Amino acid sequence: MKVYKFGGASVKSAQGVQNLKEIVGKETDNLVVVVSAMGKTTNMLEAVVGSYFNRKPDLAQNLQTVKDFHYQIVDALFEKKENIYVSLAEIFSELKSILEQKPSLSYDFEYDRIVSFGEILSTKIVSEYLNFTGLKNNFIDIRTCLKSDDNYREGNINFALSEQFVRENMNFSDTKLYITQGFIAGTITNQTTTLGREGSDYTAALLASMLDAESVTIWKDVPGVMNADPKLYTDVKIIPRLSYKEAIELSYCGASVIHPKTVKPLKNKKIPLLVRSFVEPEKTGSIINEFTEKVDMPPIYINKANQVLLTLTPRDFSFIAEEKLSSIFSLLASYKVKVSLIQTSAISFSLCIDYNLATFNKMISELQDDYEVLYNTDVELITVRHYTKEIMDKLIGEKTVFVEQRSRLTVRFVVPA
Ligand code: ASP
Ligand code: MG
Repeated sequence: MKVYKFGGASVKSAQGVQNLKEIVGKETDNLVVVVSAMGKTTNMLEAVVGSYFNRKPDLAQNLQTVKDFHYQIVDALFEKKENIYVSLAEIFSELKSILEQKPSLSYDFEYDRIVSFGEILSTKIVSEYLNFTGLKNNFIDIRTCLKSDDNYREGNINFALSEQFVRENMNFSDTKLYITQGFIAGTITNQTTTLGREGSDYTAALLASMLDAESVTIWKDVPGVMNADPKLYTDVKIIPRLSYKEAIELSYCGASVIHPKTVKPLKNKKIPLLVRSFVEPEKTGSIINEFTEKVDMPPIYINKANQVLLTLTPRDFSFIAEEKLSSIFSLLASYKVKVSLIQTSAISFSLCIDYNLATFNKMISELQDDYEVLYNTDVELITVRHYTKEIMDKLIGEKTVFVEQRSRLTVRFVVPA
């Protein structure tokens, strides 16, 4: 069997769903299809969560945006009498009944149970559309199979328990095709969790590993793994073959082509990961696999925007010892902050983190209890893998560099955005 994953961009319109059907229809093997929320639905639902949790008057409007977006796609795909309209009405009425209750005190809990509707909507639409056009499939609510702890917004999967349910529920005894959600999971008490933004790739990898898939294909709007973002660089090319290690390094450095957690479950079982274009599905794209022979790599550029450079100096002028570092990291973890780069000196500690407008000030004021905090919120982290001296000179030129780190294969610069 194989696993296919379709991200939000691939199903952002009725044509996108039709295109998915074309691609899925060509596969002759048993298949699990993992689908993300359509287009920018997750962002729209984040706005709904914000209005709901903070009791803002734009709640109804924000909800309406989500509805309109989905109905416009469904209207273009189906006849009015189709069952999908009943399904959608049920899903929206369930969402509405949540939004009519008073929110609990946990933002993360509310976030997960609301934002997950994006994936439920997209998979319902895709599954019913495939059935409607003759591609018979079974819809699976993945929350009954993938079991996580209750670390809302960053659920940790209980692998053994999930594997058991996934194998039971996706055994292909009565279908060749399952349609299910990426990004979401369920706790043992049946609460909804999510696995971190852009987490659908990770879902696909988990399912592939649990079902011993032959391969996972991520269908994207780019022709494969590229050596730089075509929006930022000219002369960009596809990297046809990458090792798992290279792929982990790239995703850790901020290459958005695959989610950082995706590679590990695949590597453990040596399942190849294919990155292909849903726009040009006839092309082979990139393959990530275990290669014993050396694979030649072009220089790879990764620009990570929206970063903050923080420098912390203990107020008591004590050295940055291990205990200090571990307390800093637990504070960052409590804010679910992702650290992209660290640098220590005798009395100060610098780190580059993702900027989160919603929690930044609160986090800084907590840090200020113990540290002098300097920060620059307008920086970018540039990583070059397989760099050369010429590349570095050309890239940086006259630019101010706040931090530079270099190893044999990788150079990283924190520069003004
Ligand atoms: N829909 C989720 C997001 O936009 C998960 C995903 O797309 O992978 O973050
Ligand atoms: Mg997405």
